[in-house]
Amino acid sequence: MNCEELRDHYELYAMGVAGEREKSEIREHLNRGCEVCMAEMKRARTIAALLSGTAPPMAPSPKLRRRILASVGFEQKRFGWAPFLAAATVLSLVAAFYFSGREREFADIAARLRDQLGRQTIELTRLNEAFAIVNGPDTTMTSFGAGQPAPPKGRVFVNPSQGVLLIASNLPPAPAGKKYEMWVIPKGGKPVPAGLFQSERDGSAMHIQHGPVDVSATAAVAVTMEDEAGALQPTPPILFVASLQ
Ligand SMILES: [Zn+2]
Repeated sequence: MNCEELRDHYELYAMGVAGEREKSEIREHLNRGCEVCMAEMKRARTIAALLSGTAPPMAPSPKLRRRILASVGFEQKRFGWAPFLAAATVLSLVAAFYFSGREREFADIAARLRDQLGRQTIELTRLNEAFAIVNGPDTTMTSFGAGQPAPPKGRVFVNPSQGVLLIASNLPPAPAGKKYEMWVIPKGGKPVPAGLFQSERDGSAMHIQHGPVDVSATAAVAVTMEDEAGALQPTPPILFVASLQ
């Protein structure tokens, strides 16, 4: 392939999501010191770095956007103009995960975000907040419910300055008058209420609790079902616990 044919693939390469063929072609150009490709890669890496950082989502070229969205299973035709920003955010998320080497987590999160975006039940602000937490270099991730067929499972991301992000599946919507409540459990302390949430009809849920968290002093994050007004201490049973230590 010549440089012209590779033009749409530099950004993908920089983000680690280029196709195998394009990947080896670009590598070959770079290895033989192709000046066009070296300049293009420099540009692409800048874009990729911007996307992976805390910079606001930027507009990728339509073609790149299509490719990336396709790579996480989006169908372009389902979207009009409005979800464009969401697309850019997802793009950032994609980049963040590739850069941090958490591809498997990425796949899982991307699937959830994709579901939620598809139903358009998630606002872009929340998506951005989720992204900020997931993308934080000092964010700790832990899973719960793995290896069990039916109970809720998912992941908890804790960022010391930004807060806690919970993403769950297999969590049926709480019945009328009830809600789920998240708890941050300090080591040797009383659980601290960390917000009420409801899950979607398909059992997926995303909940964000803002604010600083002393990660080293935190033992776990847990969820209970409570009256919709919320409770000051967890009502048994604890539905699931994500241990941070
Ligand atoms: Zn070249």
